[in-house]
Amino acid sequence: MAMETFDVIIAGGGPGGSAAGTFLARSGLKTLLLEKDQHPRFHIGESLLPHGNDLLREMGVWDKIVASGNFLPKPGAEFWVADGSDSTQFEFARQLGPKYASSFQVERAKFDELLFHHAAETGCTVRQHCAVTRIDPQPDHVVVEYSNGKATQRVRAGWLVDASGRDAIAGRLLRVPKLPTQRSVRLATHAHFRGVVRNCAATAGNITIARLREGWFWFIPLQGDMTSVGFVQRAAEFRAAGLSPEASFAGAVARNTYLAERMRFAEREGAFRTEGDYSYCFGSFAPHPRILLAGDAAGFVDPIFSSGVMLALKSGRAAADWIARQPDRGLSPGAQKKYTREIKRMMDLYLRIIDTFYDKAGFELLMNPQPILKIPGAVAAVVGGNTDLAFRHRWRLEAFYFLAWLQRWLPVAPRIPLLAPGPQTQSSPP
Ligand SMILES: Cc1cc2nc3c(=O)[nH]c(=O)nc-3n(C[C@H](O)[C@H](O)[C@H](O)COP(=O)(O)OP(=O)(O)OC[C@H]3O[C@@H](n4cnc5c(N)ncnc54)[C@H](O)[C@@H]3O)c2cc1C
Repeated sequence: MAMETFDVIIAGGGPGGSAAGTFLARSGLKTLLLEKDQHPRFHIGESLLPHGNDLLREMGVWDKIVASGNFLPKPGAEFWVADGSDSTQFEFARQLGPKYASSFQVERAKFDELLFHHAAETGCTVRQHCAVTRIDPQPDHVVVEYSNGKATQRVRAGWLVDASGRDAIAGRLLRVPKLPTQRSVRLATHAHFRGVVRNCAATAGNITIARLREGWFWFIPLQGDMTSVGFVQRAAEFRAAGLSPEASFAGAVARNTYLAERMRFAEREGAFRTEGDYSYCFGSFAPHPRILLAGDAAGFVDPIFSSGVMLALKSGRAAADWIARQPDRGLSPGAQKKYTREIKRMMDLYLRIIDTFYDKAGFELLMNPQPILKIPGAVAAVVGGNTDLAFRHRWRLEAFYFLAWLQRWLPVAPRIPLLAPGPQTQSSPP
């Protein structure tokens, strides 16, 4: 029997894969989207950024998201010191204007399912329970093998987009080298809770990030009474303490006033989950002229600033754009580099502010961004997911990073005693 043939195969039906599938199908290309799980399925990454709204609108899925009523509007983000001694707030409407006044907190099972079915409704062929297990790149096409656990199937396409998330199937199977990193390996322990104390009224949908000496907590309110709460810490410190993830989580809550306050009536729904192996990046996001990596399959950025879904949507669209521009011809070596640079530039924007967050002095400045020179507006643009910063934002961000560096020696912003002295100082890698 002749092998089934497509213009494009996408591995992975998360936000990145569904975005790529929607845009490719819309440009008339015969596209197959393979998902190893069955939607709805749990996924972490529940807080979206307002600048991701543009992509959801372009995909034509925004109205479905709003109409579903499943997702809680997110008007801002707030950062706390876990002992409750200091806090700062980013209010999207005020700092980003009406177009980006809010985003959503999403239960990913529902959100990803909606995006996946939207790709199908746009004309993309979708198959679930189909895990890509083999990739055979040829000069002018790619053969992909996938399995449903019982049988394997081989399909052929002009292109492969790898959007398989942190499984990074193409990167692993094709042994694409990763860039070296100095960043610490971190571990996240998280669960859903009922009864977590929430903010009132206008800020009820905010994400809260609470920084403690050994890491940070997130509080993401979801539609209804459920709140996602997670604790991120260095894997080495977690192992050295010899505690279970649950005990480590509970200990941090008990030791920090702000966390204890918010969790005082909390009841866990379901088990704790853990995620590790943070911050990797492949050296090329187009490791073959006809294979493009998108979203977490290209690189994973620490989730403090909730940038993952937005970056996955943007890189999914970028991959679709590059393919739609020249569907019959693979990328030249120059174009392979250009695609990589286009995505890496967005990731780097976040990596820099993430490193600032983990740096003691940087965090002190983030908590008190100096009102001079309208610096907070530039920081808010990044926090809101703007990856195409205007010059007026770019130079202000540079001023912010300069002040964060200066803060190490000269207190431009108030010191935060909770963080000093501790393992997470500027002398240790982020
Ligand atoms: C602890 C933690 C907290 C986070 N918090 C946030 C947050 O608040 N906000 C945010 O925006 N991001 C957050 N992220 C990041 C976010 O989860 C990801 O960046 C985002 O899901 C990436 O989307 P994606 O489409 O690239 O990959 P994924 O969403 O991971 O989707 C990949 C899909 O591919 C499928 N797949 C895997 N292997 C195969 C295969 N071999 N064949 C076929 N299918 C396959 C998977 O089943 C999955 O459905 C967080 C991440 C972590 C670890």
